[in-house]
Amino acid sequence: MQGIDVEFQDLNLSNLDQTQIHISGQIQPHGVVLILKEPELEILQVSNNSYKELGKTPESLLGKKLEELLDSFQVETIKPGLSDENLDYINPTKFWVRRNGDDYVVFDGVFHRNPDGFLILELEPAISQENIPFLSFYHLARVSINQLQETSNLQEFCQVIVTEVRKVTGFDRVMLYKFEEDNHGTVIAEEKEEDMEPYLGLHYPASDIPKPARKLFSSNYIRIIPDAKTQPAELFPLQNPIIDRPVDLTFSVLRSASPCHLQYLENMGVSASLTISLIKDGKLWGLIACHHRSPKYVSYELRKACEFLGRVIFAEISSREETEDYDHRMRLTYIRSILIEYMSEEEKFVDGLVKHEPNLLDLTNATGAAICFGGNWTVVGKTPEREDLNFLVQWLQKNVEQEVFATDSLPSIYSDAQRYKDVASGLLAIPISQRNFVLWFRPEVIQTVNWGGDPSKAFEKSHSEGILKLSPRKSFELWKETVRLKSLPWKQVEIKAALELRKAIVNIVLRQADELAQLARDLERSNAELKKFAYVASHDLQEPLNQVANYVQLLEMRYEEAIDEDGKEFINYAVEGVSLMQTLIDDVLAYSKVDVQGIEFELTEVEKSLEKALGNLRNRIIETKAEITHDPLPIVMADGTQLMQLFQNLIGNAIKFRSEEPPKIHVGTKRIEDEWLFWVEDNGIGIDPQFSDRIFVIFQRLHTREEYPGTGMGLAICKKIVECHRGRIWVESELDRGSTFYFTIPVGRRERIINGRKGQNNPFG
Ligand code: ADP
Repeated sequence: MQGIDVEFQDLNLSNLDQTQIHISGQIQPHGVVLILKEPELEILQVSNNSYKELGKTPESLLGKKLEELLDSFQVETIKPGLSDENLDYINPTKFWVRRNGDDYVVFDGVFHRNPDGFLILELEPAISQENIPFLSFYHLARVSINQLQETSNLQEFCQVIVTEVRKVTGFDRVMLYKFEEDNHGTVIAEEKEEDMEPYLGLHYPASDIPKPARKLFSSNYIRIIPDAKTQPAELFPLQNPIIDRPVDLTFSVLRSASPCHLQYLENMGVSASLTISLIKDGKLWGLIACHHRSPKYVSYELRKACEFLGRVIFAEISSREETEDYDHRMRLTYIRSILIEYMSEEEKFVDGLVKHEPNLLDLTNATGAAICFGGNWTVVGKTPEREDLNFLVQWLQKNVEQEVFATDSLPSIYSDAQRYKDVASGLLAIPISQRNFVLWFRPEVIQTVNWGGDPSKAFEKSHSEGILKLSPRKSFELWKETVRLKSLPWKQVEIKAALELRKAIVNIVLRQADELAQLARDLERSNAELKKFAYVASHDLQEPLNQVANYVQLLEMRYEEAIDEDGKEFINYAVEGVSLMQTLIDDVLAYSKVDVQGIEFELTEVEKSLEKALGNLRNRIIETKAEITHDPLPIVMADGTQLMQLFQNLIGNAIKFRSEEPPKIHVGTKRIEDEWLFWVEDNGIGIDPQFSDRIFVIFQRLHTREEYPGTGMGLAICKKIVECHRGRIWVESELDRGSTFYFTIPVGRRERIINGRKGQNNPFG
C-alpha cells in the first residue's frame, strides 16, 4: 500500500491495535449476559439491560442464585451438562423466563467458560421455540456441498459458498474476503441484492481489521452484530467482584463490537453483520462477511449451521489450494532433480544450471538468472548488466543474512534497481557462501489495484472534546491505485524450490572442495616423497657413488702398469658414468626444490634475473660467440632466483642446440591483458613439432649424449618454475628453423599499481 502518511499510520495502528475490546464490559443489548460463580451458580455480574429484557433489575439479581431467575426445575436439567468440559452439548438451551405474572419470554441460553474461569450465560431472544434437529442441519449443508463438488476452480467454488450462505441466511450482501500476505483483504466472491454497489475485486487495507479484532476472529468462528446502531448495554458492576477487574469476554456471543467497527459498518451503510472465520493452520485465511442494510437477527442454530458450512467448505478450499500447490511443487521438485543431475555431470557445476533444458529459469518461473561463482558471472535470460550485478551482490552481502531472500519490489528497497526495473523488479536470491550467489529476476508488471476507498485515508483523525480520535473513512467508493516497480510475487513453493537448490549446490561445492583438498593432499604427499627421494639420492647415493669413483681412480693409479689400453678405456667409461649419475642426481634435486611453497614472490626486475643468468653462462657465450639481445623488460611479481634459473636453462639450451652459425638469441616480452608473455628465440637446430610436448617431461631428450650432453631435466625444471608462478610454457619450432620458447607470468595486483604509477609511456619501469 503506498502513499500513507507514516505518522498518521502509526497513530492509527497503535491506537487501533491497542484497543482491548474483549474486556470493555460492553455487550449488545438484544440479549442479557450473566457472569456466574460455580458450583452454586451465584450471579456475580449481569448486564444492565436485565430489567428491560427479563423484568428484573441488576441489583435484585446480584448475589442471588440462578434459580432466582430461571426456577429450580430448569436449572436442575442443565446442571449435569455443566459438569462437562465441553459445554457445546447443552448449547443452546431453551429457557423460559417469567417477566410479569404469566408473561413468559423464551431465550436461547448459551454457556461458556471464559479465560478467567467464570461460567458465562448469555440469553438471546429465541426466534424459534424448537431446536433445529441435526438432520435439517445436514440437509442444509448437503445441498451446498453437492454444488461445490461440481465446481472446478477455486474462484467458482468461493462463488458457490457466498450464494449458498446468502440463500440460507437471507443477508443483503455476502462476501468472501481472502487475506493476502501483508494482511490486506480482497473480496474474491460476492452475492448481493441487485441494487447494491458491487465490492467484488476490491481490496481493503489491513487496518480495517486491526490486530485485536483479527485475534478475536481467530478464536470465534462466528460473530453476529444484529443491530449496529443500538447503544450497548454494560455489565453491572463493571468490575468483577472476585478478580477486581472487568471479565474477559473473548468468547462471548453478545460482546459488543468496538465503537470504531460499529462506525465502520455505519459508514458502509450496514446495520447488521454476520461474520464466519475461515482459519487455516491456526491463521485467519479469510472471512465470509454477511451485511444487511436493516437490523437482522440470526438464530443460534442457523449461525451454527453457517459455521458448520464454513468449516466443511473451507476444508475443501484448503485441500484445493494444496492440490494446486502440490502439482506445482511436484513439477519444481522434478526440475530440481534434473538440475542436480546436470550439475553433477558437468565439469563446472554452474554449466549444469544454464546449458540445458530445463534450466535455472524454470525452477522459479523467472525471466532471468545469474550465478556469481568464484568471481565469475554466468547468466541466462534477461538480467541486469554485469556491473549492476556486482553492486547488487555487494548490497546483498551487507543486507541479507538469511538463506533465501525474496522481494517483488527490489526498486523500492534498493533504489539502483529503478534503472533496470524492466528486468529486475522482482529478485529471489540464495547465497551459496559469503561471495557466491544465485539470483533470479522478474520484470516490472504494472497493475491496477481497486481499493474500497482511498487506503491512505482508511481512518480519519478528528478532535472531539479535546481528545484525538480515529474514525473509519466515510467513503468506500472505488479508489484505483496504479502499482509500479513491482513484479509478480514469488510463490512460497518457488522460494522453497530455490532453498532446496541451495542445499544441493552447497553439497556439490563442498564435495568439490573435498576432492580438491584430497588432490592437494595427494600432491603434497607425492611432493614430499619426491623431496625425500631427492634427499636420499643426494646424500645416501652420493656416498657409494663417490666410493665407486674413488676406487676406480685408485685402481687406475695403482695398477696403471698392469692394466692394458682396453682396461683403461673401461675405467674411463666407469668414471664418466659416475659423473653423469652425479649430474642426474643434482638435476633431480634441483627439480624437487622447485615448489609453490618455496617460492618467494616479490617485485622482481626481470632484467636483473636475465643478467645474472647471462653472467653464469658467460664462458659458453664467449666460446660460442653467441649474440644475445633483449626487449625492455618489466617488473613482475616473481621469485627472482627461479626466474634466473629459467632464463639460464632456456638460453643455455639455445646455445647448446645451436646450428653451424654462431647463436643469435633474443629475449622478447609483451603484455597481453592480465599476463606478461616472454619468449626466448634462437637460430639453432630447431625441434620437430611432434616432440614439442615431450621435451618438457623429465629425462626426455631428443638426442644422444654423444651428440649433445645433458640429462633431459632442464625443460622439466623450466615447466615447474613457470607453473609455480601460475603461468604456461610451450615451444614453437621446426627442424632447422630455430626455436622460440614462450612462457607467461600473470600480472600481480601490487605490480599493476607499480607499473601503472610509473606512467603509461614507459610500462616497463
Ligand atoms: P637437456 O638439455 O638436458 O637435453 P632439456 O630438458 O633442457 O634437456 O631439453 C630436452 C630436449 O629438448 C633436448 O634434449 C633437446 O632435444 C630439446 N631442446 C631443448 N631446447 C632446445 C633448443 N633451443 N633447440 C633445439 N632443441 C632443444
